[in-house]
Amino acid sequence: MDYLPTLPETLSRTTRKYPDREAIVYPRKDLRLTYAELDERVDRFANVLRDRGVETGDRVSLLLHNSAEFVVALFGLLRAGAVFNPINYRLAPSEVGYILEDSESTVLVFEAATRETVENGRGEFSTVEEYVYVDDDVEETPAYAVGFHDLLEKSDTTAPSVSIDSTDQYAIMYTSGTTGRPKGVVHSHRDATYHNMLYAGQMGLDFTDVGISAMPLYHNAELNCGLLARINLGAKTVILHDFDARRALEVVDEERATHLFVASRIWRQLLETSRELDSFDGSSLSLGVYGAAPMPPSLLEECIETFTEDYATAYGMTEMGPCATFILPFEVREHLESVGRAAPNHEVRIVEPTEDEDPNDPVNPDDTVETGETGEIILQGPPMMEEYWNEPEKTADAIRDGWFFTGDAGYLNEDGYLFLVDRIDDMIISGGENIYPTEIENVLYQYDGVAEAAVIGEADDDWGERVVAYIVPDGELTANKLEIFCRESDDLAEFKRPRHYEFREELPRNPSGKIQKYKLRNEN
Ligand code: ATP
Ligand code: MG
Repeated sequence: MDYLPTLPETLSRTTRKYPDREAIVYPRKDLRLTYAELDERVDRFANVLRDRGVETGDRVSLLLHNSAEFVVALFGLLRAGAVFNPINYRLAPSEVGYILEDSESTVLVFEAATRETVENGRGEFSTVEEYVYVDDDVEETPAYAVGFHDLLEKSDTTAPSVSIDSTDQYAIMYTSGTTGRPKGVVHSHRDATYHNMLYAGQMGLDFTDVGISAMPLYHNAELNCGLLARINLGAKTVILHDFDARRALEVVDEERATHLFVASRIWRQLLETSRELDSFDGSSLSLGVYGAAPMPPSLLEECIETFTEDYATAYGMTEMGPCATFILPFEVREHLESVGRAAPNHEVRIVEPTEDEDPNDPVNPDDTVETGETGEIILQGPPMMEEYWNEPEKTADAIRDGWFFTGDAGYLNEDGYLFLVDRIDDMIISGGENIYPTEIENVLYQYDGVAEAAVIGEADDDWGERVVAYIVPDGELTANKLEIFCRESDDLAEFKRPRHYEFREELPRNPSGKIQKYKLRNEN
C-alpha cells in the first residue's frame, strides 16, 4: 500500500465514514446525492467501462460542462483503472480532435451542450471507439453513442476488481494553450491526493464545508482545489452547469455555501449582481478565494463588506497541481499585489531568465538572482507533474534537477512573497536589455482610447528585437497620439517605448481569455 491513497480510495474512505452525508447537489437536474449514492453510481460506471472493454491505463475523455455526471464519470473511470482526460468544452472540434488523438483516448463522454462539437469533429476523432452521452435522461441518445443513465441502470453495483497504485497516472490534463499548443500534463493519484489536502489545510476546510463548483471542472484549479478536496474531507459540493452570477448567488443562499473560489473578475460580477437582488444574504460564506489575476483593493474591500471577511489567493499552473503559493486570509490586505509565499513543502526561487537556453550551459537552479530582481520563477513541491505526455524534450526542458521551470517572470521580496511580472516567452530583449511587456501595456492602458493592448518583440537588425504594440482602439486613435502619450509618461524609459503600433479589432485569445501573443509573433 502506498503512503497516499488513490482518488477512488479517497472516495471509498469518505463513504465508509459519512455514507449519509450529502456529497453532490446538482440543482439543474434537481439532484442530491449522498456519499453512499455517489459511490454506488461510481461503481456502476466503472463496471460499464470495464464491460465495454476499457482496460487499466486506457484514457477516457470528458467533454462536459460541470454536472453530477461529470463527477460520476470521473470517479467511475478512475475506479475502472482508466486515466482521466478532461477537455475544455469551449475548444473547436479540431482542437478537441488534437487532444483526443494526442492522448490516444478511446472513450469520449459528452452531453447535449457539446454535441455539436462532437458531430462536427467526429470524422477526425480516429482513436475514439465509444461515445457516451450523459443527457439521455432528458433527450434521445445520438445513434453513434450509448446512453450514460441507461447503462448505469443496467450495470452491476459491485466495484470491479482493479489494482491501481497511487503512483499510477491519474490524469492527462491539457494546459490552457496561452503560449502555444496545449501540453498534456501527466499527474499521478498521489499528486492529486497530496495537492487537495494541501489546499484544504491552507484554506482551513473541513467536512462541514459547502463549496460551489462554479468554475469549470475541466481545469485543475476547480477540480483539485474544490471538488476533490471536498470529496476527500466528506464536504458538500454544489455544482453549477454554467456560470451565471444571479444563479450562483441564489445557490449560495439556498445551500448556505461556505466556500467560493472564482476568478477576480467574477467577484466583480457577483458584487454587481448582489446589488440587484432584493434579498441576498451571503452570511453563510466564510471564505472567498480569487485567482488568475490580482484583486484591485477597492474590489476586495467591497467584497469583504458584501460577502465575507476572509479572502485568499494562490498561484500556480496545471503542472504544479496547480497551487504552489498561497496568500492566507489574515494577510491578504497587506499583500494584495503579491501571489503569496511558497506552500508548505514547496519552494520558490528566481533564476536568470533566458528565452532560448544554451543546452550546453543550462541555468543552474542554485544560481538565484538578488532579492527583488526579476527573473524566471522555478518551483519545487510534491504534487509536481510527472511529465508532458508524448513530449520528452519539453519535459526535459521544464523539469531540471527536480525544479519546474515555469516560464513565468517574477520576483521575491525580502519576506519571501512572490510577485508576478510576465511570461518569459513574452520578454523582449532589445539592445541587451530585458523588457517585460506588461510594464508597457500598463502605461498604454492609462490612455483612454485604448481598449486592449498587447506588446511583443519583433526581430530587428540593429537592436535584436524592437517593441511593437498591438492595440484595440476604443474610438478614434492614431499611432502619433500614443507616441506622444508614451513619451510624456514618467513610467516608461525611452528604450521601452513602442517603435511601431498595429491597430486591430480584436486580439487572439485562448478559451479562458488569456491573450495568445505567440499568434501575434507568428504573424510576422
Ligand atoms: P500554456 O501552458 O498552454 O501556455 P497556461 O500556462 O495559460 O497555458 P495554465 O496552466 O492554465 O495554462 O495557467 C497557468 C498560468 O496562469 C501560470 O503560468 C501564470 O502565468 C498564470 N497564473 C496563475 N496563477 C495566477 C495568478 N494568481 N495571477 C495571475 N496569473 C496567474
Ligand atoms: Mg503554462
